[in-house]
Amino acid sequence: MTEKIEDIVKSRMYARQQLIDGWDQDVISNGCMMIVGVGALGCEIAKDFTLMGIGKLILIDLDTIETSNLSRQMLFRPGDEGRPKAEVAAERLKDMNPYVNIDFYFEKLQKLPMSVYEESDVVIAALDNFNARLDLNKICLRMKKPMVEGGTVGFEGHVQIVIPEDSGIAYKKRDREIENLVEARLWDITEMEFPEYFKAEARIEELEEEIERIKEKKINPVIKKFRKEIEMVFDWKYAPEILDQTPCYRCLVPIPPADDKLVAACTLKGLPRNRNHCVIKAEVEFEKKYGHKPDLNLNDEVLKLKEIAQGELEKLRERVFNENVAEEERESLTEKEIADWKANINDTFGSDYKFEEMENILGNKIAAIQTVSSIISSIESQEALKLLFRVNGRNIGAPMEPPYVNYNGVYGQFDHLHILKRDDCLACGEIEGEENVQIVVPFDADVGYIFKAMEISEHKLDPELWMITNPMTKEIYWNPYMPSLKDPNIKLSSLKIKSNDIVTLSPLGKALAESEIKKYNVIIAFM
Ligand SMILES: [Zn+2]
Repeated sequence: MTEKIEDIVKSRMYARQQLIDGWDQDVISNGCMMIVGVGALGCEIAKDFTLMGIGKLILIDLDTIETSNLSRQMLFRPGDEGRPKAEVAAERLKDMNPYVNIDFYFEKLQKLPMSVYEESDVVIAALDNFNARLDLNKICLRMKKPMVEGGTVGFEGHVQIVIPEDSGIAYKKRDREIENLVEARLWDITEMEFPEYFKAEARIEELEEEIERIKEKKINPVIKKFRKEIEMVFDWKYAPEILDQTPCYRCLVPIPPADDKLVAACTLKGLPRNRNHCVIKAEVEFEKKYGHKPDLNLNDEVLKLKEIAQGELEKLRERVFNENVAEEERESLTEKEIADWKANINDTFGSDYKFEEMENILGNKIAAIQTVSSIISSIESQEALKLLFRVNGRNIGAPMEPPYVNYNGVYGQFDHLHILKRDDCLACGEIEGEENVQIVVPFDADVGYIFKAMEISEHKLDPELWMITNPMTKEIYWNPYMPSLKDPNIKLSSLKIKSNDIVTLSPLGKALAESEIKKYNVIIAFM
């Protein structure tokens, strides 16, 4: 009896969506969606599928809730600070719809058992950093799971769908379908409605007859020859690439931008040159003084940090004044002129720090706003919904084509971008065992710093087992087996390495056998 009542309640809940052409609530009720990242986008997407009555949700997030999340992440409330996002989201979603099963993981996506991915029909990426996206992209390609990727920065955002090879999803060409419909519409128009159109058609017909005669003679024989050749091989050579898969995320990001931590580490080798540098330096000074990094949730630590940062900012202002106004010149200046100079410098470097600014700088935070988050997350949900039907052999609409859309909230504009599948893509292409990395190094960096920078970028390599060469000239910069080529203190500048040059790191000995990656292409940017 209770079971029947539950069925009635459910069917009432989902009554309106069942009116959509091609809808089948069973596809939703038996479906499993994985949402990786339960931040601004993830909260919205999880809410969408919970309300639609998804059978199962899998939520992944390794973060805890912070106060600054409360302006966007709609499943969290004041008082939730410090609790795991995935866990709290699961509780709130259960309140919205008790019939949804929810698994949650307070864990890195790379550490999840593959069975969790296996269980999911569609994977939704709602992440905030490149590395996690690249790893998820790789896993989805390997597991042949369709992925919907999205992100926002300030007033802009994007959504990309990734359909891996052999996922069994037919990916129809939207443009071709539209063309067919327009053609059909043109058959219906009358001369009464569009006289000029028909007159033009007649004239074109005359010209075309002429063109046809030329084509028949000179052009068509060549086209026919190529068409025949391509048709012979299309099904095995081109069809899998063109019809049933999209480019992947890594196709768009062949060289991930340098790690923020690296830029910060590099900044600290010199004197602070702007407001951000002062705060980064203050964090290091704080750690030296108190033996730990400042905890921005503790008010007295925030105050101590602010004091150090403020001191650095004042030193910066002083330094800039001294650099610009020579000592002998200073004596000839009036008090008012000096005050004007100092006011000018204060304007350039900004007023005193506020707490949020320090938090944004230290956390490498990206501008974010709820309006854009909800637009982007809704597009992700909608694409994931269509893919869920498709995975189950049903159709309520084709996935978006082209598979990438950019939204600009300043102009209210959507742009679809034709993106290309790269043959040399490190995730979905033919190349295996290579990796592209960009590193940032100080001007006076030495060979040893390359290994340090690689470690900060999460590619820790043993200098005793890796060789560094110039791929163009084959010159060896570092070879641990040759004492003459094993000086970590030799400056990159003395090796004539310039900004944006590429060096190659290759494994030797044990690393050659054990490392999954057989070649790193490292782009060096000086700062
Ligand atoms: Zn790719």
